[in-house]
Amino acid sequence: MDGEISEQVDQIIMAALTLGASDLHLDPFAEGLGIRLRIHGRLLPLDQVTAFPFFAEQSALARLKVLAKLSLAERRRPQDGQFHFLYGSAECDLRMATMPTIRGERAVVRILPKENPWQSIASLGLSKVMEEEVKQFFAGAGGMLITAGKVGSGKSTTLYALMRERNLLGESVLTIEDPVERKLDTFSQVEVDEKIGLTFAEGLRSALRQDPDLLMVGEIRDELTAQIAVRAGLTGHHLLSTVHADTPFQVITRLLEFGVERSYLAESLKLIIWQRLVPLVCVDCHGKGCTTCHHVGIIGRQAEFRMLGASEIQQFLHIKTPVSEYGVKGLNMFVAEKDEITSEAT
Ligand SMILES: [Zn+2]
Repeated sequence: MDGEISEQVDQIIMAALTLGASDLHLDPFAEGLGIRLRIHGRLLPLDQVTAFPFFAEQSALARLKVLAKLSLAERRRPQDGQFHFLYGSAECDLRMATMPTIRGERAVVRILPKENPWQSIASLGLSKVMEEEVKQFFAGAGGMLITAGKVGSGKSTTLYALMRERNLLGESVLTIEDPVERKLDTFSQVEVDEKIGLTFAEGLRSALRQDPDLLMVGEIRDELTAQIAVRAGLTGHHLLSTVHADTPFQVITRLLEFGVERSYLAESLKLIIWQRLVPLVCVDCHGKGCTTCHHVGIIGRQAEFRMLGASEIQQFLHIKTPVSEYGVKGLNMFVAEKDEITSEAT
């Protein structure tokens, strides 16, 4: 029985990898535990996308908890863990997080494939002009490059591609992450540990003394980290990070909200790469679902980029009217206009 469950869990992970799923969800619904896969952003029941026979869902949850080295007996507190999966030529890292709900334990398993399809800057899908902007940033004397977008927009994939390329050129790359998502053999990666005071800000402060060519902070989400990051950019370091933002300009307003001095920011922030993922509808069924697309309706997602260079950032920051008075509405309209132009052009 145990062997059978292990086999079935292996099959689920294999199917998730084949289908390009990013997450595996185990949800305690009223009628029992449901297993779903997030494929190209959509959450789909396992039996809709695979041809699996009967499945012992609770045993699958238990098996996954064992793999992630979580306590089986603990069902009342959230737990998180990770494990590595290797089956034939398929390989991936998985991160599991459980949470107690009123109907029982739920879990989400994040799937991080070993073979990332976007490994080089060239394969990201940036235009030639954008690639040139990126090149100029790295050729420059230092500063900040921020990738931005909503959760799951692929902004860290872009960041990893940039870092990997610089690393291949022989540069020393030091990252501070929460948690480390992808391990790279030739990176120095530090994991945030709030319990011992190793925060993004603290990690970044120490990292500056390690003489890296390239510094990466997983996310700027507090005042102190923002201040240190801006200062690092001003003192000749190339600093990469992400900011959660709905529009490219919101990156600037968010950094100002963290209390960063406007003139320092104008000096330090050199490039914003904002992105979102646009679904590619299956041509065979026009999104209705067929065998070609495994009944998902879409065959993948494509990144769409907006970039703000140093001059645009400075222009925005030097507007005499303070940003709060400039009005969020006006900003969104401007971006929406740009959206329309892009969609018409493509
Ligand atoms: Zn189709």
